[in-house]
Amino acid sequence: MTDAFGRRALLKGLGGAGLLAGAGLGMPAGAMMGAPALPPSPWVPGFGALKPFTLAQDRIVAINVCTRPFRAVGPRIEREALAGKTVVHNYGHGGSGWSLSWGSAAEALALVPTAAPAPLAIVGCGAIGLTTALLAQRRGYAVTIYAKERPPYVRSSYATGVWSPDSRICTAEHGDAFAPQWLRMARASHRRFQTFLGQPGDPIEYTTMFEMADTPFTEVGAHGSLNEPAYPHFSQDLAPELAPAPRTLAKGHPFPAAHVRQRSLMLFNISSYSRLLLDDFEGRGGRIVTAELAGPEDFARLDAPVVVNCTGYGARRLLGDETLTPVRGQTAKLIPEQGLNYGLRSREAKASVYPRRDGLLVQTAGETDFGDDSEALRPEESYGAVARLAALVGALHRA
Ligand SMILES: Cc1cc2nc3c(=O)[nH]c(=O)nc-3n(C[C@H](O)[C@H](O)[C@H](O)COP(=O)(O)OP(=O)(O)OC[C@H]3O[C@@H](n4cnc5c(N)ncnc54)[C@H](O)[C@@H]3O)c2cc1C
Repeated sequence: MTDAFGRRALLKGLGGAGLLAGAGLGMPAGAMMGAPALPPSPWVPGFGALKPFTLAQDRIVAINVCTRPFRAVGPRIEREALAGKTVVHNYGHGGSGWSLSWGSAAEALALVPTAAPAPLAIVGCGAIGLTTALLAQRRGYAVTIYAKERPPYVRSSYATGVWSPDSRICTAEHGDAFAPQWLRMARASHRRFQTFLGQPGDPIEYTTMFEMADTPFTEVGAHGSLNEPAYPHFSQDLAPELAPAPRTLAKGHPFPAAHVRQRSLMLFNISSYSRLLLDDFEGRGGRIVTAELAGPEDFARLDAPVVVNCTGYGARRLLGDETLTPVRGQTAKLIPEQGLNYGLRSREAKASVYPRRDGLLVQTAGETDFGDDSEALRPEESYGAVARLAALVGALHRA
């Protein structure tokens, strides 16, 4: 008999939920007064009860598209002379931009030739631009950000918001060359993220993910899109200490899947986190100027001898950089659910739901994402993902 079934039998043996309520174990008063008792929640040993939650199309409050700025060789972090300025590039972070942001900022700032308190211009106000600007301020530079858009309307604002430092960050072919820098970036970023835990608004927190699959989890870091290159498994191979190892649930778990594993995952509540970064930057005297650079010659217009270029996928057009490959991603945000402390991912459903404070985030993998730069919404993709996840949640709570 499983633990989940064991718990149900225990509830039955105690005379059901009404009796538990009578014993003061948290059932609503109505249950004691003859109202229908709620079914017991599914139970995972070592985790506890799985709170029910609602996934439905009419709870979607936003559908967003974002293009991952992928480069086969890894992000471009290098210095060049352009339009009379020293330009330090810091772009091309694939599906790992939030995760690697702080470490990438440190790598880029190491290439800035002028010493603080010199003025420094940053172009871009996404995950990379904001963290580079903040780290530069901390080191004493007088920083101005120039950007076409700022949060909550940059591509970074539409990301899933989880610790994913080796998601489409380079190809396996270029993995060895990039590995030492990746490791420095991942460690520095991880260390910085821990300093945001427990802050008001929970900008960064940990949650629990339950991952379901019909066949054993042999492949790590797989993506659902066709024609994708092989990727290195940096997290597993180089830095397993940066995330707790997943634990396989024994047979008898309540999930509607043959194989389930549970893992702790660092979650970025992007609304409160980017608000915190913006406030911090402006609170330290930073200025944000709305400006669009039409081409490399426009670096000359910026009011600083050194510029850090954090334009993400925008660098493809700005610099004509065709090493940037677009990888489309669409997310749907649903009304947040108070107190939800876990998320679900299903390999067969090709969908995940993350319990972000600023909205349940549903992500699906499209088969044609790799190489796709379309930012047109495809609502039916999100509706399908929500419906498939809703079916799983339904089965979980009926089990
Ligand atoms: C669906 C999806 C989910 C993702 N989930 C995660 C995740 O969970 N964890 C994670 O770590 N990463 C994730 N990513 C990846 C992450 O979102 C990106 O790596 C990251 O957003 C890149 O940040 P950025 O600052 O370089 O680019 P952007 O956010 O695009 O910012 C670029 C900035 O430059 C400005 N700009 C661009 N061109 C110009 C110009 N010509 N002139 C002036 N300004 C300009 C823009 O206005 C903007 O301010 C995800 C991506 C997608 C698509």
